[in-house]
Amino acid sequence: MNEERLPAAYTAQIREMLGETADAFLHSYEARRTQGLRFNTLKSLTGPGRSAADQAITQFSLTPVPWCPDGFYHEEPARPGRHPYHAAGLYYIQEPSAMSAAELLQPLPGETVLDLAAAPGGKTTHIAALMQGQGLLVSNEIHPERAKILAENVERLGLANTLVTSASPGELSARFPEVFDRIMLDAPCSGEGMFRKDPAAVDEWSPKHVEMCASRQWDILQDAYLMLKPGGSMVYSTCTFNRRENEETIQRFTLEYPDMELIATKRLWPHLEKGEGHFVALLQKAASGEGGASDPRRGRSKRGRSSGPKTSAQLREAYQQFTSWAAAELPGLAAEGVPLLFGESLYLLPEAFQDRLHTGLLDGLRVPRAGLHIAQLKKNRIEPAHALAMALRPDQAARTYDMPADGPDIQNWLRGGSLPVPASLHGWTLVTVDGLPVGWGKASSGQLKNHLPKGLRIRVAHIDEV
Ligand code: SAM
Repeated sequence: MNEERLPAAYTAQIREMLGETADAFLHSYEARRTQGLRFNTLKSLTGPGRSAADQAITQFSLTPVPWCPDGFYHEEPARPGRHPYHAAGLYYIQEPSAMSAAELLQPLPGETVLDLAAAPGGKTTHIAALMQGQGLLVSNEIHPERAKILAENVERLGLANTLVTSASPGELSARFPEVFDRIMLDAPCSGEGMFRKDPAAVDEWSPKHVEMCASRQWDILQDAYLMLKPGGSMVYSTCTFNRRENEETIQRFTLEYPDMELIATKRLWPHLEKGEGHFVALLQKAASGEGGASDPRRGRSKRGRSSGPKTSAQLREAYQQFTSWAAAELPGLAAEGVPLLFGESLYLLPEAFQDRLHTGLLDGLRVPRAGLHIAQLKKNRIEPAHALAMALRPDQAARTYDMPADGPDIQNWLRGGSLPVPASLHGWTLVTVDGLPVGWGKASSGQLKNHLPKGLRIRVAHIDEV
């Protein structure tokens, strides 16, 4: 992008902030944007995922991102977002600087973590991988349409311990006070680090817009504060360079909330590091007594426990149908979680949610994914959910059908086509590419009928970061 396309007020502000190095920074806009992917360690560490990851490293000529052990750069003309391994959730396409945020947060397996502004899911999928599938991750996105994309990415990467909500920070803080061990706040910002990737962001930029972003960030931070446990830590990040939205916002936060200590900040600059740029700050809340007035378990009313769908006869029946189906079709599955029914969709809510909170807290909340979607209720039967397939290992399924990533069959499959299969194959079949699940098929009379959700058929290989 040509430097002349930048708003004059923006370049003036950069010159003031960077002094002698401003030219080097501004020239970086003329270079090509950096692109990256991060392996999903829930899939890439062992078995077929390990070999597929090794193959991807060679095929896409990947080179390591210094600040993220699972992050890699790729160059044009590699199109990893269009490869079947992307549909299989082996990796997430993520801008390399953005990988610094979850690395700084360092969530641990078993913790209770919130990603407050999560769509399309770069940080959520990174956090979930670092949690190794254990504990509870609440991944929230205020805009329902973006929350759908987030949910698709959560499913594609096979996250079973993750709840996707679509609420305002205020709605969440009223329900989840002092609940989270760690919070990621990747705040909506003026996007100065997006100019190279998305020239439309240049047109949106103005000093007034920066002020609006700073004021919104301040509002969201206050809700994040309310939800952070004493002793817990929080990462605040943006993809902008503006001091107003970065250092000044954090300074105001630590001044008005003296129990928040700033532990570290880092800026990634596009003229100094290979990445589009990011600001990340790690903060910690002072420890204090637990179980105070704001402990959500204190509010655990009988109504909260009994009014949820958990105890309904319909739920019991649906779950029983699922368990008898799974006993035959998924002999290797040890289903963990609390069954929940939302409409016709059956979920397994992570056990940690029930143990640490209670399902009544979900009443009236928009919850696009209440944990792992395991089945869909049909008339007198259930159908296994796509998300379940994506969270399985092939050895858990009674039947699998594998295709090589470089053959024509997988391309046909991802577009929604059916496949000829041996007549001996009959019933629900976990379909895999080089051993990695991509969805369900149902085999009958030598045909494998495609059960990939319709919305994913056209888009499955193109859900990249937005
Ligand atoms: N963390 C995401 C990732 O890594 O893929 C990117 C998040 S993006 C920088 C910021 C998100 O904040 C957007 O998805 C946007 O819809 C959301 N947002 C906008 N206004 C908000 C508000 N008032 N409160 C909370 N989130 C908001």
